[in-house]
Formats: sequence, structure tokens, C-alpha cells
Amino acid sequence: MNIHEYQAKALLAEHGVAVPAGKAATTTEEATKIAKEIFDGGSGLVVVKAQIHAGGRGKGKTKNSGAKGVILCRSVEEATAAADSLLGDVLVTIQTGEAGQLVKTIYVTDGVDIESEFYLSILLDRTRSQHVVMASTEGGVEIEQVAEETPEKIIKEWIEPGLSLQPSQARRLAFALGLQGDALKSGVKLFMKLFDFYDKTDASMVEVNPLVLTPDQQVIALDAKVTFDENALYRHDDLAALRDESEENPLELEASKFGLNYIKLDGNVGCMVNGAGLAMATMDIIKLSGGEPANFLDVGGGANVETVKNGFRIILEDPNVKGILINIFGGIVRCDRVANGVLEAIKDPEIAKKVEQIPIIVRLQGTNAEEAKEIIDGSGLNVISAVLLKEAAEEVSKIFAA
Ligand code: ADP
Ligand code: MG
Repeated sequence: MNIHEYQAKALLAEHGVAVPAGKAATTTEEATKIAKEIFDGGSGLVVVKAQIHAGGRGKGKTKNSGAKGVILCRSVEEATAAADSLLGDVLVTIQTGEAGQLVKTIYVTDGVDIESEFYLSILLDRTRSQHVVMASTEGGVEIEQVAEETPEKIIKEWIEPGLSLQPSQARRLAFALGLQGDALKSGVKLFMKLFDFYDKTDASMVEVNPLVLTPDQQVIALDAKVTFDENALYRHDDLAALRDESEENPLELEASKFGLNYIKLDGNVGCMVNGAGLAMATMDIIKLSGGEPANFLDVGGGANVETVKNGFRIILEDPNVKGILINIFGGIVRCDRVANGVLEAIKDPEIAKKVEQIPIIVRLQGTNAEEAKEIIDGSGLNVISAVLLKEAAEEVSKIFAA
């Protein structure tokens, strides 16, 4: 689960991580008031930042006003104008895709004098089964680009399972960034606090890009992207409440409410599968037959009428879908029961209307697979049956040859 920068900054501040002062606003009036407070407090710079679940805002542009997603303002009037240009407009960045993301909230924050910009992140290194703290002198640049072009500029400290980031590790990271004296102390403190935050909140990623050094030798987090592990949210009601559903893909959101694992993709063959591994293999088969999967969908072990119905509804809401491949392995469930479930789901009036034009291929393998095929073939409905994956693949390729 992703959260907004303003939410992440508030949490970081609570955990003792240095961040610039700031507040979120949803109207120009609110933004003006916050900007005035910051200027009155003696600051000469206010930064107005679009709050969307995507990065690259500084280089992004809004569709109507053409404003950047991060705007530096020298006066209250400039801050008001910045708020006005962002709120209600759609921001397009390298991470949002062409459709962009509607800006409903902005963050009005104290402008910071920047001596140097760094990169810092904490995440799980799956190949090592260890958490890793990564730092780089290349702040403000996409880390993927640094990893590709100058991987030697990324320094990593891996965390021993059960332990925290050790002071010696934090110092090594700070040295590698060239921090000295007070800056070194400030950096070490921030790294330790940030790891503690990552650990305590069951975050799956914390990325601070840029982390900055100010002229008075303080190291602070200027940007913050935080992702929480959804499987651990039951332990953190306060964090779960930060979810902003309007930022999520509506189909994925709906699927999660039915307990289905659905990921929207760009292709046109919808697929419904039981088990994540089989779902991956099914997507491969679709590609090998010349199609492109429209989604990943794991309906879980049961595959009863209700799950199949919900699966159909979600797949059919995607207008790109030109065919559906159902691939179920009957291990715990018998294939004949699944076949009857599929037929019953298709008879649902709402689904029936939509599937008239769309070929449905059902491949059932496992217990009672032959009986299941007979049930489907004898149904008189517009459903193509298959037992072998190869047969299903041939049917998929026929859709694309037609
Ligand atoms: P994004 O990563 O989405 O582009 P950032 O928060 O990293 O957004 O902001 C982009 C750039 O804007 C930063 O690299 C920094 O140079 C500048 N910036 C952001 N916040 C501030 C701030 N509070 N004070 C001064 N400059 C800032
Ligand atoms: Mg950034």
C-alpha cells in the first residue's frame, strides 16, 4: 500500500526523522494560509508539491495549466498561484503514464537551502533475504538510471536478520556520501531513525530522493516515498487508515474486495486461473500463442460459482478484453464442479450479455477432467473446452488469426 508524501513526512517526523515543516491542503485558501505561516516564520521560500502516488513530479507537467508538480515560491501570491494551477488539474509524470493523475491535495512546505542532494532507500533484498539500506551521491536522479549507468555509485549495507542498522553501518554510509563533522552526525542519526521507522511500521520500501545536506550541516529528507506491506497492515490500524483508494486502479481495488489477486495488464486476453504459478504459466502460454494477457488473476484454490462470477465481472469491465481463457487445475476441487460453476456464472444475465461477443476457452485439468469437458461441450453455450494446455493455446491463437 502506497501513501502520499505528506502522510509519509508526518509519520517520519513522529519517528524523529528530520523533514521540512509543511501541511497538506485541498483548497487554494488553505494553501495560502499555510504559505503565509511559513513566510511569517522567517522562511524566504515555500514549495508547493502535488500529492499523487507517483514520482517524477518535479519534471512532470499538468495537462491544463502546464504547471510543474513541484513549484518553488518566493511570496504568498506565488504560492496561491501555484496551488491554483495544481489543484483540480491532472499531473502527468514519467511514472503516471499518459493518463496522468488528478491532483486533489497539495503539500505546502518550507523551502530548504540545498548544499548537496543524495539518494537513500531501505527495502528487502530478496536475493539475499536481508533488508538493505542503499545510498548514493546521485540524489534527485532515478535510481534505476544510476544502477544502469554508474552502479558503483550505489552503496549498500545489508542488515543481519533480527538486528537493526548498526551504528558502524550508518557511519559507513555517511562516509561514503562524503559527510563530515556535524553533517556526519546528523546523517548517522537520520539513517538510524529511518531504519527504525521502516522496521516498526512493516514498510516494504522507504525511499528518500533527495536526501539533502543544508548549509548549516543538517541532513534532512526532502522527499519521501513509503510503501507498506499489505500483509502486515492488520497490525497497524493507524497506517491502514492512510489508504487513498482513489489513487489505486479501480479494477484492482474491486478485486481485492472479493479476495481475488488481480493485476491489470495491457493485453486483450483475459485470464482466470487458480494458483499464482499456474496464472504465470497461463500468461506465458497466451503470449506464446500470439496474444497478450489482459490481466493476471488468481482466484485461489476454491474456484466456486461466486469466485468465478466475480472473476468474470472484473475481467469483463476491461474494454480491451477480446477473449477469456479459464485455466483451472482440479486438485482439491473437482473439475466437473468447476465446469458447472463456470456454466452457471455465464448464465448470470449481466455476464451473459457481455460474453455473447467474446469467445471463452475453458481448460480444466485434474480430477474428473473428462467429465468436465463433456459438461461444457454438452451445454450448448458459446464455450470452448480444452483439457491440454496445448489445446487451449491453439484456441487462443485461433482468436487472433480470425
Ligand atoms: P519528485 O521526486 O516527485 O520529482 P521531489 O520531492 O523529489 O519530487 O522534488 C523534486 C525536486 O524539487 C527536488 O529534487 C528538489 O530539488 C526540489 N524540492 C522539493 N522539495 C523541496 C523543498 N522543500 N525545498 C527546496 N527544494 C525542494
Ligand atoms: Mg523525489
